[in-house]
Amino acid sequence: MTQPSPASVAGWTPIAEEAARATRMKHPEAPFPRPTHRRVMTVANQKGGVGKTTSTVNLAAALAMHGLRVLVIDLDPQGNASTALGVDHRSGTPSVYEVLLGEVTLADAAQTSDQSDLLFCVPATIDLAGAEIELVSMAGRESRLKEALSDEALDQLNPDYVFIDCPPSLGLLTVNAMVAAQEVLIPIQCEYYALEGLSQLLRNIELVQSHLNRALTVSTILLTMYDGRTKLADQVTSEVRHHFGDTVLKTVIPRSVKVSEAPGYGQTVLAYDPGSRGAMSYLDAAREVAFRGAGVEQ
Ligand code: ADP
Ligand code: MG
Repeated sequence: MTQPSPASVAGWTPIAEEAARATRMKHPEAPFPRPTHRRVMTVANQKGGVGKTTSTVNLAAALAMHGLRVLVIDLDPQGNASTALGVDHRSGTPSVYEVLLGEVTLADAAQTSDQSDLLFCVPATIDLAGAEIELVSMAGRESRLKEALSDEALDQLNPDYVFIDCPPSLGLLTVNAMVAAQEVLIPIQCEYYALEGLSQLLRNIELVQSHLNRALTVSTILLTMYDGRTKLADQVTSEVRHHFGDTVLKTVIPRSVKVSEAPGYGQTVLAYDPGSRGAMSYLDAAREVAFRGAGVEQ
């Protein structure tokens, strides 16, 4: 099957897009390769609204649709990832909060998303809102999530991928996510001030690397909400590629109404409108993530 290059998604003409969509609908793709080891990826950027949650849930859904087991840990008290994956996160539901306190295991808090049998989510409830402050006085406050994500605990769910969706801050919850992961995935919005704050994020990652988690790397940068009609989007894209090279995925996620509508239906865009441009670009991004993780050049 010939496929257009992911890099060209944002620039497709409507006819080319339609043709590619028809091809993909007719020929469901083969499973994605499994990673060489279980990948734990923290999705972080202290700016709000850059596409952390959207990228987490859609990459996770795309990988699960292609045969990989995926666990999403919702570490944002707003619980947007839980909403998009359609899992219960009312106050009182066993959640990541109880997991951080050591009261329940990861497997006990995890729920299966109705969007795939291979997709699991540890939800965030509003109880997590106090955790940032409560954690301060707790023993091992930076590594509570890491403790909960021990090999034994993860083996119960046996995910190939774990994505941790961070809140829009660099507080203790985000530090816990960085200590628990090997990789950071940074979504960058193709917008004004996109790079502002990035050096602060990178400095914090370096601090975590030198004091708490030597294994941590920024493995993946994803450009989101690209609007092909603006010159600015191209400027941001080339600046980010210039700075970060191959860390940046070739696929760029376009701004798309379907992507923003999907959470309102408790769905990822892959479930809400699988043939849409937004869904296809997240699928392309997930394919890149999977092939890189399996050590295969595309
Ligand atoms: P974050 O988790 O970083 O705060 P979100 O993923 O919640 O950001 O995205 C912020 C808002 O932008 C949400 O309303 C989301 O639906 C919307 N959004 C995200 N990605 C896109 C996109 N590619 N096209 C259109 N809207 C998007
Ligand atoms: Mg979010």
